[in-house]
Amino acid sequence: MHKPGKMMLTRIFVIMVIMILCLSLVSGGSLVNIMILNGEKYQSKASEQQLYDSLVSAPRGDIYDRNMQVLATSSTAWTVYITPNGIKKIKDDTEREKVRTVIAKGLSEILEVDYDTVYANTDKNSYYVIVKKKIDKQTADKIREFISANKDLEITKYIGLDETTKRYYPNDSLASVVLGFVGADEQGLAGIESYYDNELTGVAGRVVAAKNAAGTDMRFTYEKVEEATKGTSLVLTLDSYIQYTAEKYLETAIEQNQIAERGAAVVMNVNTGAILAMAVKGDFNPNDAFTLSTADQQKVDAETDEEKKKELKSELLNRQWRNKAVSDSYEPGSVFKVVTASIAIEENLINEKNSFFCNGRTTVAGQGYGCWKHGGHGTQDLRMAISNSCNPAFITIGQLVGVSTFSKYFKAFGFSEKTGIDLPGESRSTYHLQENMGPVELASSSFGQTFNVTPVQLLAAVSAAVNGGYLVKPHLLEKKLDQNNKVIETVSTSYKRQVISETTSAKMRSLMNFVSENGAKNSLVSGYDIGAKTGTSQKVSKIQATGDKYLYIGSCVTIAPIDKPEIAVFVMLDEPKGSNYYGGVISAPVNSKIMADVLPYLGYEPSYSDEEIQKLSIEVPDTVGATVEEARGKVTAKKLEYKVVGTGEKVIRQLPEGGSHVVNGGTVILYTDDTADKTATVPNFIGLTATEANKAAADAGVNIEFSGNLTTSGLKAYNQSKSAGSQVEAGTVVTVYFRDETSVDG
Ligand SMILES: [Zn+2]
Repeated sequence: MHKPGKMMLTRIFVIMVIMILCLSLVSGGSLVNIMILNGEKYQSKASEQQLYDSLVSAPRGDIYDRNMQVLATSSTAWTVYITPNGIKKIKDDTEREKVRTVIAKGLSEILEVDYDTVYANTDKNSYYVIVKKKIDKQTADKIREFISANKDLEITKYIGLDETTKRYYPNDSLASVVLGFVGADEQGLAGIESYYDNELTGVAGRVVAAKNAAGTDMRFTYEKVEEATKGTSLVLTLDSYIQYTAEKYLETAIEQNQIAERGAAVVMNVNTGAILAMAVKGDFNPNDAFTLSTADQQKVDAETDEEKKKELKSELLNRQWRNKAVSDSYEPGSVFKVVTASIAIEENLINEKNSFFCNGRTTVAGQGYGCWKHGGHGTQDLRMAISNSCNPAFITIGQLVGVSTFSKYFKAFGFSEKTGIDLPGESRSTYHLQENMGPVELASSSFGQTFNVTPVQLLAAVSAAVNGGYLVKPHLLEKKLDQNNKVIETVSTSYKRQVISETTSAKMRSLMNFVSENGAKNSLVSGYDIGAKTGTSQKVSKIQATGDKYLYIGSCVTIAPIDKPEIAVFVMLDEPKGSNYYGGVISAPVNSKIMADVLPYLGYEPSYSDEEIQKLSIEVPDTVGATVEEARGKVTAKKLEYKVVGTGEKVIRQLPEGGSHVVNGGTVILYTDDTADKTATVPNFIGLTATEANKAAADAGVNIEFSGNLTTSGLKAYNQSKSAGSQVEAGTVVTVYFRDETSVDG
């Protein structure tokens, strides 16, 4: 190297000053020190050096449920890049070509990327070409091994690994529609991830380094100028257990009732608006948000037109990401009668003593309306009118209220504004404006039709009807945490207004409690006093658009404990294609199962009435080893039936086993020798009562597990976990689902 002349030194000095100034801007003083310490080295190479300035991604904040269970977190990942300008500097053609092919082969194999693309990229005019983002530690280690295995080619100069982060959802699809997911650059694209993207996103750090002639950076001289700062973590009001419970029962109901357009189940604290669970099925796995369910993918694969294929895929992806409880509105149907009744009671227009007449039909301004009970309900008081979910009675109540009062309360209950829930894409409601509302619109609105609201709007309004009259804002965020998990903000209940008085609200609790004894029978929970209202609505606009007359949404809202409400459960099933479509039949059992799991979990002890105890399941006594006579005595003492199989003197085996539970009056099979058949044929349980089903199971040699509230009368089996006629091992447990098929409503 020749000695630089004076001009050259001046130029180097100017470059140095510019570099120091630039670096000082981002780093304060630290870099300047490094520059001075290494001054000589830099001076000698400055003309060939270039600044390398790159952002270091900060981990997103974590998302927790209210018990600090992790719902979303970030793990370390790596970005693999190559430095083509470095490769280009290799003078020897053969060696350069060798480096290019070795890199393309190695990276394409380890990273499962296209060889030709990597090969072409090794010749690009750039210092930084990304080969693959977000690889895991195992893959990163393979890259490191590959680099050291090719030391002779010095490929370490041309391949780099940048540390970054990758979002991870440890519970897979649990609460996916609420959590949302992130994109390639870790930006929130849906749900909480999108709504709180600013908070969750950390402050990126920065690495400034010099690139030498080969284009490889000299980071070890001065790395990480600014540390990355992790984003704010969020504690949600969701409870993983309640969320899991809601999703489990919702999913089963979707399958059993052949639901075509998904379903939603929401559990909310009626006093605070805190959402404990928000389940939507079919949903997705946020770890893999762009993958469709197998069924949806098959639909896409079946499409032959490439353009239509793309459209369908994007439509189905959007559908699986969509939060049905917030982003879709629907006609609430009879559930809305809770609101109409609240208005009329608050305005002193009706009371428990009023009677309403229904002969099955009524006419308003020339428009005819039928009651679901074609023969009519006759004369009924208010309790019975709500319990019967009688449309003509509610048309009368609506007329007493009148357009202007109805419109005033419709607004007050929050139906004309978004709830403001902390999720993106909340849908607006559509309804008749006061000036456009005539007697016909008032009539249909009174029983919950011809307007659309969202499930969260409805849940907030029903909560106001029972919580003392307060409209609260539904919300998902409970706390914000800093990098050390210290609380930096706590969300308090947001009361919007008092809509009805405490007195009216107390009356509504009592009326809703009565309802559960009738139309919403399937929502009952043994040992608990609940309030309920079911609804079934026709999807009018889709019916008009498609000509398909049988499009319904069945929904149900339950409140518990009804004397001092804490939680509301809302369930909706969209487009049932099974044997029944009424909310009281298809949705109410889901409410019941969720409540039955959640109430004890929240610390509410069940208290059974004598009648309930009578109907509760009975623990089977253990008779194995006893003589047949002793066994008979033990079984009949529990008021259970028995059946002896074989000719032995002692019981060697019994079904169901001792300690398991069967319905009152159930049968225990006592085996006295080994001659009994080891296989069994599953009987057809559909249409049987619980006692009949238990007998059929005993006769066939299978065990049954009952699903449904057996303390309710009139239950019939509507589904079974193993199909009738299938051959199973004797003693196999078959789950049989029971409900009251007669719980109809408008
Ligand atoms: Zn009626």
